[in-house]
Amino acid sequence: MPINRHAEVAVIGGGIVGCSIAYYLAKSGVDCVLIEKNDIASGTSSKCDGNVTIVDKDPGFDSLMSLKSQELMVALQEELDLPFEYRELGSLLVCENDMEMEAAKEWVDIQNAAGLKFNLLDQKDLRQESPYFAHDIPGGLECETDSLINPYLFCYSLIDKAKQYGLKLHTNAEVTAITKKEDFTIETTNGDYTAKQVVNAAGVWAPFIGKMLGIEIPIIPRKGHIMVGARQKPVMMRNVMEFGYLMNKFERERVADERTLAHGVALVLEPTESQNFLIGSSRQFVGYDPTIDINVLETMSRRAIRFFPAMKDFRMIRAYTGFRPWTPDHLPIVSEVEQVPGFYIAAGHEGDGISLATATGKLIEEMILGKEETIIPTDPLRFDRFKEAVTK
Ligand SMILES: Cc1cc2nc3c(=O)[nH]c(=O)nc-3n(C[C@H](O)[C@H](O)[C@H](O)COP(=O)(O)OP(=O)(O)OC[C@H]3O[C@@H](n4cnc5c(N)ncnc54)[C@H](O)[C@@H]3O)c2cc1C
Repeated sequence: MPINRHAEVAVIGGGIVGCSIAYYLAKSGVDCVLIEKNDIASGTSSKCDGNVTIVDKDPGFDSLMSLKSQELMVALQEELDLPFEYRELGSLLVCENDMEMEAAKEWVDIQNAAGLKFNLLDQKDLRQESPYFAHDIPGGLECETDSLINPYLFCYSLIDKAKQYGLKLHTNAEVTAITKKEDFTIETTNGDYTAKQVVNAAGVWAPFIGKMLGIEIPIIPRKGHIMVGARQKPVMMRNVMEFGYLMNKFERERVADERTLAHGVALVLEPTESQNFLIGSSRQFVGYDPTIDINVLETMSRRAIRFFPAMKDFRMIRAYTGFRPWTPDHLPIVSEVEQVPGFYIAAGHEGDGISLATATGKLIEEMILGKEETIIPTDPLRFDRFKEAVTK
């Protein structure tokens, strides 16, 4: 097929990360094309929750990147034309026992020392928050700046504005091969493209794109289930997670029953703007199989009822699964690849892609424009931090 299209930068993948990159590049006047194999937000970014949180981030670089993302999200509220159900309500992490409360106290102290807005909550605070909490829950903590969005609408909103800035959008175009001479040639199922620089923002599929240029990218899918509840009792008005969520996410030792541990289940309850509830979630390494496992849904229901007994009567509309792009050190890769100059990776955000997408998009824009000062330090996100692991 003859080469018929060219751009300065080609972004591969129309999830929240690719859309954010495309937005910031287009806004800066960079000639940019976004190539997506299906439609916008057809991957993990429409099979997830919408929490833009610091509450579940490791103190340090992880929290800093989230904070910067939150600040950009606030600005995007003004910049974008299409609404995306942004609500800045803060979020909660609740504890099941005194041991978790001790850990929560430490978590609050560390995060506050880093300048973040965390508050410790006791049992009375929780009862005030919602009369539906189980009576024996001892307390938890709150992060004031956390917010909620609808990730699906957010992607469309970014693309709508990016197109006004000149973004070229090519959907239903699966990238099948990439070669590099002076420029990159990107072959797709819907025509070929050339570009001076390429950004691989293909989420859990980023390793397949990397292989096209002989690069091993250490990202694997970590499956998660979510149930959608019908409108019913307002058990909670803002996002709540249980403390065990942190233990699962960071693969730390956790005390829970066998099935909860086996399915990597911890409560995440998100009230959507339309007052449905997203009830999650699980964490499993089971490849790219999207099948819904009823045993996992049952375990998730038990966890929800443990914290909110009134949920035993909840009606569910549907369930879905998504794949978190997991990396071995729990940080994404946002980096140029040394062996292939002009080829960037922006992937591997695991359960944090909604929270970290805006800072990722801004950082890639700054890298491509060759800015000395960047929104966050680039070092912790370098691809070559995995060099040793990859060449082993
Ligand atoms: C159950 C669950 C709950 C979650 N909840 C939250 C949350 O509350 N907060 C949070 O911050 N994060 C959350 N996450 C994580 C978040 O959803 C992901 O980190 C994020 O969506 C990843 O975005 P992405 O753009 O990297 O990937 P994706 O959204 O998967 O986008 C990648 C895109 O690349 C395209 N693509 C792949 N291969 C090709 C190809 N060959 N050619 C062209 N295009 C290609 C795909 O079609 C896809 O659209 C959750 C994830 C799950 C599974």
